Amino acid sequence: MSDRSRIESTFADSTLTSSKAELDYRPVALMPDVKVLKVGGQSIMDRGRKALFPILDELAAAKDKHKLLVCCGGGTRARHIYSVASDLELPTGVLAALGGYVPRQNARMLQMLLAKHGGIFMLHDDFEKLPLYFRLGCIPIMTGMPPFAYWEKPAANGRIPQHRTDAGVFLSAEVLGSRRAIFVKDEDGLFTDDPKKNPKAEKIPRISAKELLKSDLPDLVLERVVIEYLARARFCTELQIINGLERGMLTRALEGEDVGTIITRD
Ligand code: ADP
Ligand code: MG
Repeated sequence: MSDRSRIESTFADSTLTSSKAELDYRPVALMPDVKVLKVGGQSIMDRGRKALFPILDELAAAKDKHKLLVCCGGGTRARHIYSVASDLELPTGVLAALGGYVPRQNARMLQMLLAKHGGIFMLHDDFEKLPLYFRLGCIPIMTGMPPFAYWEKPAANGRIPQHRTDAGVFLSAEVLGSRRAIFVKDEDGLFTDDPKKNPKAEKIPRISAKELLKSDLPDLVLERVVIEYLARARFCTELQIINGLERGMLTRALEGEDVGTIITRD
């Protein structure tokens, strides 16, 4: 007889790596009414006040009606540090750690600009305080970057971290049990190609993750890993990409209107 101590439980005899599925996985939606949204780095923040201030107005007007979790992208400065660090031959984990500072700077600026409306800066460790922030009528603001940093998973090719701020926003919505994550960018949605480079690119109003992965578009408006994860999402089954440069779009998206592009799980 083994003298290994054991506690009776579902997984007591499991290695946790067996391929047998966990058939009855039915997680609880923790805060399904929270709207998780991303304010794009390059597409919004880097454009300055002209792009950002109207969005701040829409956020301030919406905050008493909706529970908003605002996440920030990195943008041009993040791309710059990726270039410098790549030239210095630093590995993916270092790039992810360095790139993580930029969306945090953006989140700090956004917090200051929304302070008079209850904007509050939060770190990943403050995630558990979200119920408190909402009860106080705050607008919690954090980086969109997931906290993988040095532990960033190896990229399929190249060394740019695959999990950047789009991924962090999707993962935040998924863990909170929020059905739709909203990405505020500078194009009307997902196109057949980058509309900034290809004038023939056409807008795709609605598409499933499966169709999108199959279509193998030359470039995407969202980080590719997000589309892969969307296909396995439990809660965050829709991604909405909207043009934040167009006034009223964010408000309409928060109201649940299918403006922009909707990428669905099924
Ligand atoms: P963010 O500011 O949120 O980080 P990005 O700049 O990374 O946003 O991504 C948005 C940009 O992606 C758009 O401005 C657009 O030029 C580009 N893009 C590339 N491929 C596509 C596509 N298929 N559809 C729409 N936009 C695309
Ligand atoms: Mg981006």
